Amino acid sequence: MTVQQASRFVVTPSSKAVAADARAVLLEDPGFGRIFTDHMVTIRWSEGKGWHSHSVGPREPFTLDPACAVLHYAQEIFEGMKAYRLSDGSTALFRPEENARRFNESAERMAMPVIPEDLFLEAIEELVRIDADWIPGGEGSLYLRPFMFASETFLGVRPAAEYIFCVIASPAGAYFKGGKKAVSLWVSEHYTRAGRGGTGAAKCGGNYAASLIAQAEASKHGCDQVVFLDSAENKWVEELGGMNVFFVMADGSLVTPPLGGTILPGITRNSIITLARAQGMTVREEPYSFEQWRADSASGNLREAFACGTAAVVTAIGEVKSVKGDFTVGNGDGGLVTETLRNALVGIQRGTVEGPAGWLRRI
Ligand SMILES: *Cc1c(COP(=O)(O)O)cnc(C)c1O
Repeated sequence: MTVQQASRFVVTPSSKAVAADARAVLLEDPGFGRIFTDHMVTIRWSEGKGWHSHSVGPREPFTLDPACAVLHYAQEIFEGMKAYRLSDGSTALFRPEENARRFNESAERMAMPVIPEDLFLEAIEELVRIDADWIPGGEGSLYLRPFMFASETFLGVRPAAEYIFCVIASPAGAYFKGGKKAVSLWVSEHYTRAGRGGTGAAKCGGNYAASLIAQAEASKHGCDQVVFLDSAENKWVEELGGMNVFFVMADGSLVTPPLGGTILPGITRNSIITLARAQGMTVREEPYSFEQWRADSASGNLREAFACGTAAVVTAIGEVKSVKGDFTVGNGDGGLVTETLRNALVGIQRGTVEGPAGWLRRI
């Protein structure tokens, strides 16, 4: 059955949708990124033609030629955002316009076509609407993954002439197994994530590919996540593989590394800065060295530290390990500031706390 809707999307409901009882079982403990909804959105772009073939259809594999450009030169970008079920039963997105804007900034950096922000948002909303039954209740949310890749069959090295934009969705519970209260970090001494003039501020798959060896090293040392230092001096704290980082000082102020092209401009990071300042806190976006981090942890000048991002929201940092020795932040278990900011953010996302105007977009 194909239904032409008022929108520019052709909607083809899946004939193999998961039955309600089986879905309920899957939603009991969705974990992160391992189960997927029934549908996907795709839009194609070709040189000379622009965006075309807008489709909402059954989730299914792509057929790609072995010479498909993305498989060779990694011209690919993505976003990560969530749809929430609010207490009144309605559905909402958190600051999705920011994801649309950042997606296009990533696209420009990777020499890919930009997608009109209203089309990006429409694609997201089409998928959330058709797969609304997949939004878990309680603490859960529906993680949305818009992405775009070079789909042209061509081995020459230049920006591709054809792309596929796609959105898939995955019901999500806690990002860290067991709903961990604090995560442990491994400080990478050998590997950096981004350099000046590189792609550190773009949300591209290549950044993740380059970070995996450091993440594996972190796991080998029994740590949950890797934290990267800057590539020029190997001194300044930048961010984790997929999360930004904040420090809570003894005077109650917050410190977070400044955006300068090598750090991903997190929407959670920006929201935390805004909320903290609204609560009267001082937030300094300034460089913070690993040695200072260690010294401040020892002296008690650093009380708490936390990582933040859409997937993990706000998560306390406990133990920090490196080849130069280990230390613990505060009592190793987070603290009041981390918890207060987390609750404020989660409350706004779930519609139980009034946030700044425009942060919740109801579907
Ligand atoms: C996505 C991402 C973040 C977090 O961004 P949010 O918009 O808060 O989800 C931080 N660092 C990296 C490297 C990322 O890819």
